[in-house]
Amino acid sequence: MGRVTFPERAAEIDLDALRHNIRHLRDVAHPARVMAVVKADAYGHGALPVARAALEAGAAWLGVAHVSEGVALRRAGIEAPILAWLHTARTDFTAGVEHGLDLGISGWELEHVAAAARELERPAIVHLKIDTGLGRNGCPPEQWEALLARAVAHQEEGLIRVVGIFSHLAVADEPARPETDLQVQAFRAAVTAAENAGIDVEVRHLANTPATFSRPDCHFDLVRVGLGIYGLSPFADQASEDLGLRPVMTFSTTVANCKEVPAGQGVSYGYAYRTRKPTTLGLVPVGYADGVPRIATGAPVLVGGRVYPVVGRIAMDQCVIDFGTTGLVGTPASPLGERAVLFGGSDAPPVEDWAAAAQTINYEIVTRISDRVERVYTSREGGDGTGS
Ligand SMILES: *Cc1c(COP(=O)(O)O)cnc(C)c1O
Repeated sequence: MGRVTFPERAAEIDLDALRHNIRHLRDVAHPARVMAVVKADAYGHGALPVARAALEAGAAWLGVAHVSEGVALRRAGIEAPILAWLHTARTDFTAGVEHGLDLGISGWELEHVAAAARELERPAIVHLKIDTGLGRNGCPPEQWEALLARAVAHQEEGLIRVVGIFSHLAVADEPARPETDLQVQAFRAAVTAAENAGIDVEVRHLANTPATFSRPDCHFDLVRVGLGIYGLSPFADQASEDLGLRPVMTFSTTVANCKEVPAGQGVSYGYAYRTRKPTTLGLVPVGYADGVPRIATGAPVLVGGRVYPVVGRIAMDQCVIDFGTTGLVGTPASPLGERAVLFGGSDAPPVEDWAAAAQTINYEIVTRISDRVERVYTSREGGDGTGS
């Protein structure tokens, strides 16, 4: 790979790492197959290049939340099965059926989907979702028999084809918790009820990333993995490499300004930080409009092989690091223009350090990196994932 010329603000997406993660997850889940979850613009990594690379590496399915996300992938030429599971009364079910998306059904959506299928004279592909305890979407167990009966009736009429039964886990990132056992039991019961109702269930799926690693009894026929394909760990006590994963996103910019200041210099809005001795401040030109959480003061930034903390308030467009020394400005050692890596890559802080500083999880940090940050796709292996 030739050295990439980085734009001013870059989220570098390592598609080799992504393909590695998919292949690794395929091994972990085997013989179950892998659904690569690419909702929310692939957790901020770019839905289309990620979808293409994931399929190249052997993902069998794609998963999205919204029908519109699935339709966008179809319009870009993706032909693999795509499941969309979060709908509203305003969802364009007709577009979903027309584009051959698989649709997750928790209850009320079934009639909308059947109506769309009737209008298009094309059967809708459906996965029925049981709420095994998460308490969000999914059919409550006491309404499951009724949903099955309606689904069977529509299937006999040729309006739908039920190919899957699925559910979502609540506490799989804490493998010792007993509630997952109850969810597995409830799931098995729901599958049995579907089979007894005469449904030929092709794919049963329950596992997310944490359950794929920690609960082989949740694998069934298909695992729905999001976080893991991006190379990140869902567990508090295990890092990416402990799971055999490689982080995919590296978020970087360049030091935009560099200046010496005296002791007592207030830094950024509110003067939440004042220098204690003469020092050099570096301006890092990313802020909360770029997806850098405003509360993450203290989070690390790698410049020239060393890590420096963000000091003072993070603003909309920028934040400041303290180099802790003087005598740099105007010398060859000046960090002005140096690459500043917030997270990702081999020597830089892991995204989990930013998550900790922001009191959140790695999922949220990568997903919220904004459009102002250019995605740069790198790939050594065949296929650059951009389809060009
Ligand atoms: C987002 C999502 C997933 C993926 O979860 P990860 O923890 O990122 O693997 C799987 N299933 C459903 C229903 C989801 O909403």
